[in-house]
Amino acid sequence: MKGVATMETINEQKFALVVEQAMTKTRDSKRWQNAIRRAAEMIQTNPFTHWTGSALLIWSDSGEIYEASKVCQCRAFTKHQPCKHRAAYRLVQRYNETSH
Ligand SMILES: [Zn+2]
Repeated sequence: MKGVATMETINEQKFALVVEQAMTKTRDSKRWQNAIRRAAEMIQTNPFTHWTGSALLIWSDSGEIYEASKVCQCRAFTKHQPCKHRAAYRLVQRYNETSH
């Protein structure tokens, strides 16, 4: 399967703003802030992510494919912990909703 770069033409300024807003919203949760930081890095460096319109497909380093939306299939999610996949989903969703 071929990966499709979600952020091939990423507007870095706009993306940074989305990340900043997400960090502000989650300032009470260190775990979410960590997840967001890792998610932002992943979006910018992992070309194997694909936005389906309702979920973010992520080919992980370990060779697994996650379909992240409000739910995820990773270990953190099953333990009810924040995960970078869902954080990435929210960042991409917000990025796509932001028109400027
Ligand atoms: Zn996850």
